[in-house]
Amino acid sequence: MPTEICLDTNSTTPVLPAALDAACRVMQQQFGNPSSSHSTGLVAQNLRESVRCSAAKLVGAGAGKLLFVSGATEGIQTAVLSALCALRQRRDRGNTVGRLLVYGATEHKAVPESLAYWNRLLGLNLEVRALPVDAGGRHDLRTLASWADDIGMLCTMAANNETGVVSDIAGIERVLQAADSAALWLVDCVQALGKVALNLQATRIDYAPFSGHKLYAPKGIGMLYVRAGSPYHPLMVGGGQEAGARSGTENMPGIAALGAVFDALERGDTFQSAQVLHTWRDRLVQAIGDAFPGVVFNAPLDQTLPTTLNFSVPGLSSKLLLDLFDAAGIRISAGSACSAAKAEPSFVLQAMGLPEWRTTSAVRLSFGPLADDDFITRACATIGQCGAVLRSSGAAPANSGALAWPASTASSTAEAGNEAVRGLDWNELEQVLQSDPQALLIDVREAYEYAAAAALCSAGRTAVNLPLTELQRGVPRWLAEHRHPVVFFCRSGNRSLQALLAMQSRGHRLCRHLEGGLALGAGPAPYTATSAHPTKDLKS
Ligand code: PLP
Repeated sequence: MPTEICLDTNSTTPVLPAALDAACRVMQQQFGNPSSSHSTGLVAQNLRESVRCSAAKLVGAGAGKLLFVSGATEGIQTAVLSALCALRQRRDRGNTVGRLLVYGATEHKAVPESLAYWNRLLGLNLEVRALPVDAGGRHDLRTLASWADDIGMLCTMAANNETGVVSDIAGIERVLQAADSAALWLVDCVQALGKVALNLQATRIDYAPFSGHKLYAPKGIGMLYVRAGSPYHPLMVGGGQEAGARSGTENMPGIAALGAVFDALERGDTFQSAQVLHTWRDRLVQAIGDAFPGVVFNAPLDQTLPTTLNFSVPGLSSKLLLDLFDAAGIRISAGSACSAAKAEPSFVLQAMGLPEWRTTSAVRLSFGPLADDDFITRACATIGQCGAVLRSSGAAPANSGALAWPASTASSTAEAGNEAVRGLDWNELEQVLQSDPQALLIDVREAYEYAAAAALCSAGRTAVNLPLTELQRGVPRWLAEHRHPVVFFCRSGNRSLQALLAMQSRGHRLCRHLEGGLALGAGPAPYTATSAHPTKDLKS
């Protein structure tokens, strides 16, 4: 496999080596439960509190609470529950409360979903309403001002995960203050941590969730800031940990790892400065522009985090770009990781009012402050190669999006569970190949992916490149008449499954596919590529 270049850090990051060491130390040596009163427990308690102190300093928590939670989704949940319980209590006491639960239209799904869920569950029946954003992705402050009197809870994000757009938090605060709004205010700081200076105590923000895995700590650890005096209701009750604010034995390896990340941020010797990140972004912008003439960036670069680029290329679907980049070893995404499986237009870009072609063809490229110059150089070079491959393969971009097999051949859960379409794992593949020297391996990726992944094809077996789009037009005779096992493979196992189902619907039973695709391969695939067999003798 080509060396992986992960340009998808807004979805998650690897763990900082010092954070890994800290987590391992806590799991193997300082493994105490911070609730225990013996010495081992006290060591754990001391560690937890020292990390809390570093965190408080980093985000300027002042007299506010900083709770350790499992991640931002739990933080958001807890904040929404707290605010909505407070609104219900106020209402039950006969006080008027705002009728609106307002969230930024480009907010992470965890926010509107939590608002709707707790609103329903608590029987509040308030109106959940999206606050529009402008073409640059920033909140529409005029609309906010016109609603401000009537807002019970307001949720806005500090920086957007898909576009990197940094919100005008000070502007929002001015609007709330001017209206003397009683709204409880949540600001999702997930993408801002470590990238935007924060001093929460100097604001009127009531709640701010954070997530460790977006900044080189492991998954499963996060924090929630709650302003001193803001309403609070625990989501989790039980053993009374976190002074009763969040029960459950603390995730000490996660907390220790988070502490190592905060220490690195404070020392300033591990992560790149904003200035360096900006110069790297400029180089990536240049590389993308050279590789894909006509590219449009979907958010104003002077209003976005230097670590996020969101762009669309006329005539190239996001699926094509993702597949091409993936084949070349670059991991990018079409939007947030949670919606990656849905292949729908980006609701964030739709909210910004961008034309449909841009919302459906957008890709996000993001890198973290732990990157280095060599990484960016390799990324730029590989992006250049992707552009060259695409030009030389003469891909017909407009037709290269989702594939449309007849409904009868489409994958369904029922069919996918069927033995006949069960995928092979790598060991089973090896067995098939060894048991029959004439077994045929077919790479159903597009020619441009195949070309971009030339390094994949090392010694050994021969794989034939027969793109699914071609197979879609008809099964070539050499394949239809092949009387030995056929194994289809692609990047993730989706297209190979479609190829398999199509073959089976035409009565070809000796087919299998590689489950999980090349992505799950342990190392270089031991196959040599050849050009596709002649396809002029196509059967219908
Ligand atoms: N908020 C934003 C802006 C995010 O990007 C994410 C994760 O993608 C979340 C919330 C949810 O974070 P977690 O994965 O910690 O639950």
